[in-house]
Amino acid sequence: MKQVSTPPAGERPTPLVQVAGLNQWFRTGRTLLRKAQVVHAVEDVSLSIERGEVLGLVGESGSGKSTLGRAILRMTEPTNGQILFDGMDLTHLGRRALRPMRPRMQLVFQDPFSSLNPRMTLRQIVGAPLVIQRPDIDAKERERRILEALRTVGLSPQHADRYPHEFSGGQRQRVGIARALIMEPSLLVADEPVSALDVSIQAQIVNLLIEVRKKLDLTMLFISHDLAVVGHLCDRVAVMYLGRIVEIAPTRTLYRSPRHPYTEALFSAVPGVDPDVRRERIILRGDVPSPLAPPSGCAFRGRCRYALPECATAVPPLREIGHNHSVRCVRDDLVLSRGG
Ligand code: ADP
Ligand code: MG
Repeated sequence: MKQVSTPPAGERPTPLVQVAGLNQWFRTGRTLLRKAQVVHAVEDVSLSIERGEVLGLVGESGSGKSTLGRAILRMTEPTNGQILFDGMDLTHLGRRALRPMRPRMQLVFQDPFSSLNPRMTLRQIVGAPLVIQRPDIDAKERERRILEALRTVGLSPQHADRYPHEFSGGQRQRVGIARALIMEPSLLVADEPVSALDVSIQAQIVNLLIEVRKKLDLTMLFISHDLAVVGHLCDRVAVMYLGRIVEIAPTRTLYRSPRHPYTEALFSAVPGVDPDVRRERIILRGDVPSPLAPPSGCAFRGRCRYALPECATAVPPLREIGHNHSVRCVRDDLVLSRGG
């Protein structure tokens, strides 16, 4: 089994999150007509997130982004591999052992409509994690923290007694973020936090995340299917395809010189900043293949315009091609169009 390799002491601070060889598979139910099958939602993922870093995770729907985010938070039991948080091995910790870790890692959900209980006031919603996870904190201190969290996300104390339906989508997502921040987490996993919002509101929430990240020195995993959104916020970006990371690089590097054909195709869907530069829009035919029956070799080859016969033989290794830049593609002769 792959293990997180620890650098000699004193060289660099250990990353907040270290993942090695992570597999997350799901066994689907057996029916009369069908045998039980195994969904390979996350396949052999190794990555780390440095302290204070924002790592973007992009890829089409079904590529395993949410599953990876939830696995890192240990909301699921990994099938294989290793997960370290702040140097602690969480891989096989049980419910009880995980409990003291829970406040330190929080999730912001995609849908600000269904993730807030309509019968609770904002005070109750934002305060709920404190009530559950920190019963030692008294009511007065709790109230102080609730108002502080609301302020941090740009809501006012007057909002505390109101209900979710009185707010717009963007404001509700602010509530979702306040609820995560009240635990003073070190790690925030934001799973498509702006995907359900109007484009005009998306930038406001991204800016809020940029602000709170600085103010609270947060480490973040920011999940999105939209490369345009990710560019503003993330230090580094990992591109996922059918459960695997196919490219990972610092944001600037990835946007200027993408090296995986799938990254290029994702960029081609993003409207360019410079209207004079006309980019060819690469239409990806078909969907992400089923993780129940992944194709042999490179999973992208069926949709790749650069595929060679050899791409069918083996899964390409994730190879390092530059500083902090790795790609899972056998072709190193490609000149790809870039993101901007
Ligand atoms: P993304 O967030 O990138 O859209 P997901 O992580 O939600 O992708 O899903 C990846 C794959 O794993 C999908 O094929 C999905 O159907 C499958 N999957 C996710 N969760 C489960 C589960 N609990 N049981 C069975 N299959 C699942
Ligand atoms: Mg998802």
